[in-house]
Amino acid sequence: MKTKLVIVGGVAGGATAAARARRLDETAEITLLERGPYVSYANCGLPYFLSRDIEKRSKLLLQTPEGFDARYRVSARVGTEALEIDRAGKRVRVKGPEGESWVAYDKLILAQGGTPIMPSVPGAASEHVFKLWTVPDMDRLHGFIEERAPKTAVVVGGGFIGLEMAEAFKKRGIDTTVVELMPTVMGLMDREMGVLVGRELEASGVHVFTGVGVSAVHPEDRTVALSDGRRLPAELVLFSVGVRPELTLAKSAGLALGSTGGLLVDEHLRTSAPDIYAAGDMLEIEHKVSGRKVRVPLAGPANRQGRIAASNALGQSMVYRGALGTSVVKVFEATAAMTGLGEKAARDAGFDVGVAVIHKDHHASYYPGAQEISLKVVYDRKTSRLLGAQAFGRAGVDKRIDVVATALVGKLTVHDLAELDLAYAPPYSSANDPLNLAAFVAENALSGVSPVITAAELLRELAGPTPPLVLDVRNLGEFGRGHVRGAQHIPVDELRCAWETLPRDRRIAVHCRSGFRAHLAVRTLKQLGFTDVVNVTGGYVSMELEGGFSLE
Ligand SMILES: Cc1cc2nc3c(=O)[nH]c(=O)nc-3n(C[C@H](O)[C@H](O)[C@H](O)COP(=O)(O)OP(=O)(O)OC[C@H]3O[C@@H](n4cnc5c(N)ncnc54)[C@H](O)[C@@H]3O)c2cc1C
Repeated sequence: MKTKLVIVGGVAGGATAAARARRLDETAEITLLERGPYVSYANCGLPYFLSRDIEKRSKLLLQTPEGFDARYRVSARVGTEALEIDRAGKRVRVKGPEGESWVAYDKLILAQGGTPIMPSVPGAASEHVFKLWTVPDMDRLHGFIEERAPKTAVVVGGGFIGLEMAEAFKKRGIDTTVVELMPTVMGLMDREMGVLVGRELEASGVHVFTGVGVSAVHPEDRTVALSDGRRLPAELVLFSVGVRPELTLAKSAGLALGSTGGLLVDEHLRTSAPDIYAAGDMLEIEHKVSGRKVRVPLAGPANRQGRIAASNALGQSMVYRGALGTSVVKVFEATAAMTGLGEKAARDAGFDVGVAVIHKDHHASYYPGAQEISLKVVYDRKTSRLLGAQAFGRAGVDKRIDVVATALVGKLTVHDLAELDLAYAPPYSSANDPLNLAAFVAENALSGVSPVITAAELLRELAGPTPPLVLDVRNLGEFGRGHVRGAQHIPVDELRCAWETLPRDRRIAVHCRSGFRAHLAVRTLKQLGFTDVVNVTGGYVSMELEGGFSLE
């Protein structure tokens, strides 16, 4: 008997599910319902068309209803919205170009994605205010830029899409400001990474306002008002403040939701109704490291979930094992990326968190073109297990994060990471890859060979009742350019002659620029009998990024 498979949503999860279903079953009757005018388009590519990096709009349209039919014998019905699921009758009420009708199913897959959140501030419905989620959104925005040639833009929200669009606007000659409510842009990342991203934006000519919201859009004088009373010029406003799962249909069908508000599915991506599966941004899934329920609205998980949902709807028993939230964003010439848990998320999840931060060249320093990469590895001190990593730099960021993403799936420890045999020749890496080095820092901290504290921990200790002595082991020039007020300065190469001036009855927090010279100093002092000596991981670079230190 032919299986009638109906899929609601025809982009990432839905289109993948349709193609997979056909590959598994030549006889199935597959119907793809998409309320928008396009199926299977590259929504991740929309910002790059607007930046003009992608010149041809057609490149974004990966498949058409005709193409789906020719290759997969899938009936892709665009402009067709699913309005109601009749679970008892196993049919979906749809409204399309020919009016309303019912479509029968044996198995149903929901892949409806999410809806961008539009804050209800006054003026948000003005014609110069945009969101970016679909091809029509992109066309509208592109048309507005072409016709009106706006000189100023405000991007509300400094997440992935906001950053990509800030760059796109800037590339089109628009004076652009990003407004972000959180203390830093890229609020999903730990603070220092967000600071680095913010600096990159500013260095590229984008204005950045953090810790402040937009309270109104004023179409009359083309400004936006900030919650602190300031006004910014904005001939164009883009809201990119997040996305909520599209659940109207699922809720009205009585499907269970999870604790995070996403659609509840089991490990086979089956909803609370036996014949209904789901995939993509609308789901609540398990975080692979914390085991907690999360929503991960990203294209990779949506595509893989679509594949599994289709397989299981057609009788297989594939298991979806959750996601890591691995993500990457281009910020002008730089890249920021993360996988697994950041420091804060790991603490919130109850781990005994250890952190190793390095700022190292992405390949051998002596080979031309070396670029500094800031890499933070988060691990569990009890088990040494890796929990996540975040990185920022101009080269080599994505590969480090992808290695850690793989390591996380294998539940590797920092000891495994220290031993990883990674590809090396001077144009690509160093004999010890930055990932190996970060793992060495973690191993040395765990064994007590070279204990570390983070810049944030040092800041807290300095404000406490028994502040440590800050020992700065950089050279005189570096010290002269800026140092912590009250720090003792002994360049690392002079330490063996000058250590007698250091107190033995006080904790000593040693730092250099990025951590390596401080590690040498910690080892020297420890072997001289100093018992309470720690290295500030990431050194002065991380201290500056953390902020809050009294510097002179
Ligand atoms: C501008 C932009 C850039 C992005 N960049 C990245 C990136 O670089 N990396 C990354 O990992 N992710 C990125 N994403 C996120 C990624 O695109 C989404 O996570 C992914 O598309 C989710 O897939 P999905 O199938 O769940 O939903 P979608 O791809 O959003 O598809 C859902 C579809 O369902 C349709 N639909 C909803 N309800 C109904 C209904 N009742 N009847 C019929 N049709 C319906 C919608 O019209 C929509 O087309 C980006 C998203 C955008 C918008």
